[in-house]
Amino acid sequence: EVTVTNSKTKELIELDKMHYIHPTSAPKDVAENGPGIIFSDGNGIYVNNLEGEPYIDGMSMLWNVNLGHGQEELAEVAKEQMLKIAYSSSFKGFSNEPAIKLAEKLATMAPGDLNAVFFTSGGSESNDTAFKLSRFYWEQKGKSEKRKIISTKNGYHGVTFAAQSATGIPATHEFAGSSVEGFYHATPHLINCELGDKGDPNYEQSIRSLIEKEGADTIAAVIIEPVQGAGGVNIPPEGYLQAVRKLCDEFDILFIADEVICGFGRTGKMFGVDNWDVVPDLMCIAKGITSGYAQLGGVMINTNVREEIVNFEGVLAHGFTYSGHPTACAVALKNIEIMERDGILENVQNMEKELEKGLAYLQDKHDIVRNCRTIGLLSAFELYNPERGEHFDPSVNAASAVVDECFDRKLILRHIGSFRVAIAPPLIINKQEIERMIQVIDESITAFK
Ligand code: PLP
Repeated sequence: EVTVTNSKTKELIELDKMHYIHPTSAPKDVAENGPGIIFSDGNGIYVNNLEGEPYIDGMSMLWNVNLGHGQEELAEVAKEQMLKIAYSSSFKGFSNEPAIKLAEKLATMAPGDLNAVFFTSGGSESNDTAFKLSRFYWEQKGKSEKRKIISTKNGYHGVTFAAQSATGIPATHEFAGSSVEGFYHATPHLINCELGDKGDPNYEQSIRSLIEKEGADTIAAVIIEPVQGAGGVNIPPEGYLQAVRKLCDEFDILFIADEVICGFGRTGKMFGVDNWDVVPDLMCIAKGITSGYAQLGGVMINTNVREEIVNFEGVLAHGFTYSGHPTACAVALKNIEIMERDGILENVQNMEKELEKGLAYLQDKHDIVRNCRTIGLLSAFELYNPERGEHFDPSVNAASAVVDECFDRKLILRHIGSFRVAIAPPLIINKQEIERMIQVIDESITAFK
């Protein structure tokens, strides 16, 4: 519940309660108690509520505001493009300059031969597009029975019908009983990794077993997040992604990397797969491509798949009104230009060390902090009950309690399940700001204990 000191806030809260159905929120709670916060403005890693109180945005909102808030250059380029032409269609071969330039720029940035892009307006649309393009690819190859998609448990791929079906987080996967047929979930590497075991040599076995059970001639693609985000910030052990790539090659299956969180510097490399030198066949991007300043996503497509698409004689009956949106593409181009100009990747690599140091300090100081993991500016820690000898009982909701304590101290983090807390600050964060964040977490853990 927000602090109510002025009448404008009061009025907005009442209107919100009555008319606004919030995504991925508890509707009863919001309808009864109002929104958790009403954001007004922001600057760098800070966001203000309507009363002008600053909060540290320790999650870059939804892991996407990579360049932080209040970036004037992004606002200016959007205005410039809107005044020229805010929107134009990309159907029937129509095109626009920002989309063309962005497509070319992405081709130079993406690994290997991912040299073409299909634009969407976000992550779920990108994943749905990747599934359809995979099936289309196999149809063109005369193998139309290759239609199934393998993903992993705890993987998050979005909420449209297909993306929801690929998602391996039960609450999302099962919502409204809407998951569709043809999606299979392998046990990911992380079941053991979570317990600190990074050395399981059979980590890709579960995917292999599924392929063998279902038959490779029925499977179109495997989709994996290089680092699982919403499923717990689960960093794969060395060799895992390479093993999955090899497996896909062995069985003639397309490999889709879901880079919606990892892409555009979050893990300290431009794309998550770059940490392991793996080149997928299709790569889904969104979020960080515009730092959240405009809605944009895309599927990067390798030469092999592109060939099948461009040799198709008919109409590719797939496209979104906002595919190739000129304003969104102009913002993305500027976002990438700033990333390169300001050495954002370098900053992420340097700040990764500070964040690791901070988490190590917390783990040293508090016996309830365990399993800290960080890659780039993507982190999580777990809350462990030493008396129980395992994580806190789910009924305690330890992670949510610690996140609430942080929120009371003006730091926004996110809990994942009952014992994991995620941290993903804007990529422009500096050392002092990380230290401040750690200090707040420290105080919040103490208060929780
Ligand atoms: N894929 C991953 C890895 C994500 O984290 C998300 C969103 O958090 C999505 C896909 C879905 O993206 P969107 O919410 O833009 O549809």
